[in-house]
Amino acid sequence: MNSKTEGGKPPPLQSAFALLRCPPCGGSTPATPPKTESQNPCHIQCTMRQLYAGLLVFCLCLTLSCVQKQTQRADFVLGTICSIRFFKELKPELFDELFSRLYELDDIFNMNKDNSDIDRINKNAGIQAVPVKKECIELLSRALYFSEISSQSNGYAAFDPTIGPLVKLWGIGSDKPRIPSPDEIKEKLSLINWRNIEINQEEQTVFLTKKGMSLDLGAIAKGYAADIIAEKIREYGIESAVIDLGGNIFALGEKPDKNPYKIGIQNPLSPRGDYMVYVETKNKTLVTSGSYERFFEENGVRYHHILSTETGYPVDNGLLSVTIIAENSTDADALSTTIYALGFEKGSALLKTMSGIDAIFIFEDGSLRVTEGAEKILGKKAKGS
Ligand code: ADP
Ligand code: MG
Repeated sequence: MNSKTEGGKPPPLQSAFALLRCPPCGGSTPATPPKTESQNPCHIQCTMRQLYAGLLVFCLCLTLSCVQKQTQRADFVLGTICSIRFFKELKPELFDELFSRLYELDDIFNMNKDNSDIDRINKNAGIQAVPVKKECIELLSRALYFSEISSQSNGYAAFDPTIGPLVKLWGIGSDKPRIPSPDEIKEKLSLINWRNIEINQEEQTVFLTKKGMSLDLGAIAKGYAADIIAEKIREYGIESAVIDLGGNIFALGEKPDKNPYKIGIQNPLSPRGDYMVYVETKNKTLVTSGSYERFFEENGVRYHHILSTETGYPVDNGLLSVTIIAENSTDADALSTTIYALGFEKGSALLKTMSGIDAIFIFEDGSLRVTEGAEKILGKKAKGS
């Protein structure tokens, strides 16, 4: 980790970097999510990044000719805008196939969809075990791994997929968010415990042992979907692509001109689309969790969507966002939420036990701390850009 600390305060990064940027497209946010394929989606991407949380893949005409053929499709799935982009013309059937896979995953993991695996598990909490698809078992098992490791430095799991009742109670991101009473919070907290998930690998079933429990895989499912799509693209022998599932970015391979991708990290204190720093990287996934992504405000207080399983309130630890850079998007997604919820000290301690994972922390005072690996690939926004 970058350990230049003075008086416990995280220091800002000092190094100055120049940044070339694509001229602004001047696009406006569409009222409905776009579904597009284009030969040159540079403009579309610039427009769409206003809708995305956390991460922005810059218009790739930075070092790539704008006339370079690209194809892209985007659609609203997994509760967010998902886009896939290639740097050559490819058959539309390929997009059809990739997006049908995303729709299949939505049928499994979307807890608001009637009859999805998660919906059936939740409706049968305290009643019976439910047969589910193998993907559900696989992802849930991985989620429990993060519950386990995030509970080692706490009495409770900072990352807990049984957070459902609390998420519903607060309604953050819904049209009716509200501050619950302490009694309501206490009641819901009693339902949150990852140890009360029973997975039967042989029978391929899942059982929530207490009535009222519910799963919410919102902190990990997009990452899992990104891994599946990345794998499929690789199987086709396609070397370069950018998968963006609501800000969960998987930058596959390198840009066709062999340069690394340039991915901006949202400045949590600025309007969406304004990045604070960027990283230059090849074949990596980047996932951000931040308090600015989904929230509501009451009496000047911000209530955001990452909840403490200890207090039942939104996590409040001085962090505004955590970005994870890794090779596996499931883990990056789970970790961005886990590390955010653990906070800087415990989160960095956990990261030190892992290899191949880097992180960028942005704090409430606008300062930034990064792991050593992230520092090597980090670029700072040039003044006035
Ligand atoms: P986003 O989904 O906005 O990209 P995250 O990956 O950090 O952001 O996931 C946040 C979502 O995860 C919340 O909206 C909620 O559904 C769920 N969640 C909130 N707190 C926790 C927690 N402590 N452990 C596991 N999941 C959580
Ligand atoms: Mg996450």
